[in-house]
Amino acid sequence: MEFLTLDRDSFDYGVAQPIAPLVRRVIAENPSKFTYFGTGTYIVGHGDVAVIDPGPRLDSHRNALAAALAGETVRAILVTHCHADHSPLAEWLAAETGAPTVAFGPHGDDAWDIGNDSDVAAYDVEDEAEDVAPVDSEVKVEEATDRSFAPDIVVRTGDEAVAGSGWTMVAVHTPGHTSNHTCFALDDGERRTLFTGDHVMGWSTTVVSPPDGDMTAYLESLRLVQGRGDDVGIPTHGPPIGDLAGYVGDLIEHRLDRERQVLDAVRSGLDAIPDIVGRLYAAYPRRLHRPAARSVLSHLVKLVDDGQVTTADPNPRLTSRYHPT
Ligand SMILES: [Zn+2]
Repeated sequence: MEFLTLDRDSFDYGVAQPIAPLVRRVIAENPSKFTYFGTGTYIVGHGDVAVIDPGPRLDSHRNALAAALAGETVRAILVTHCHADHSPLAEWLAAETGAPTVAFGPHGDDAWDIGNDSDVAAYDVEDEAEDVAPVDSEVKVEEATDRSFAPDIVVRTGDEAVAGSGWTMVAVHTPGHTSNHTCFALDDGERRTLFTGDHVMGWSTTVVSPPDGDMTAYLESLRLVQGRGDDVGIPTHGPPIGDLAGYVGDLIEHRLDRERQVLDAVRSGLDAIPDIVGRLYAAYPRRLHRPAARSVLSHLVKLVDDGQVTTADPNPRLTSRYHPT
């Protein structure tokens, strides 16, 4: 499928840039293979504003947000999910402004132990660091989880998260990337904008890593977004997505293609994740095989749930053996 790109010359780090009549974006300087050019923090409204995903604990980003919000009244701090590039600055911003944090809930409890990546000895990832360009030692890759975050206000699908002058934002729970992931739908009376967080990203597919990441839930959440009829999607990483329903349709097809490939591999006798990864990702650099193993596991969890694959382990793990039913 075709992904969308953001022109590096089209923005400056730390500058509040209008990208829609009610929406300004401040990009944090935390580029990496998980964050693209960095985290996009969104400021919605004028005068009375909401902030979506304050971002990573990074001095330059904190200063940029303080400057961008000077003279504004922050009414709510919305958090899509608790990865380290999204939620950590919420604590500072809430203390600074007195605004409540609003989210589905804290990060979920891991439902079972999938084993360690290092148990899967086939992956040589010594060159993994090449892809990551942290600008601050506190900046971790996206998988780093902010377990300290707990919202002041808990929202479910359909709940109003915040309202401003002539606009409202409503929560849309979209589990899959994480179990607590929530999109926020902005309605200004003229058009409907969905802030998609990491659920739908313009530049890349979304990491779905068990046990908190769930491929069955992810596909259901994609179908939910596909059917909503929003005019535009705005992801945390990357440019706005114009034809959101069409784009999400491509994402669904892409995932179902991969699921078929995983099932075909198991049916052909490959029973271990490293072997399946070796076949499906043969054209990719070896350093991508470790995250690919998590992705293959996410498909195997779904195939086990769907009754098409079995494993002797009580729950699918990175080191389990898989067989067709
Ligand atoms: Zn994330």
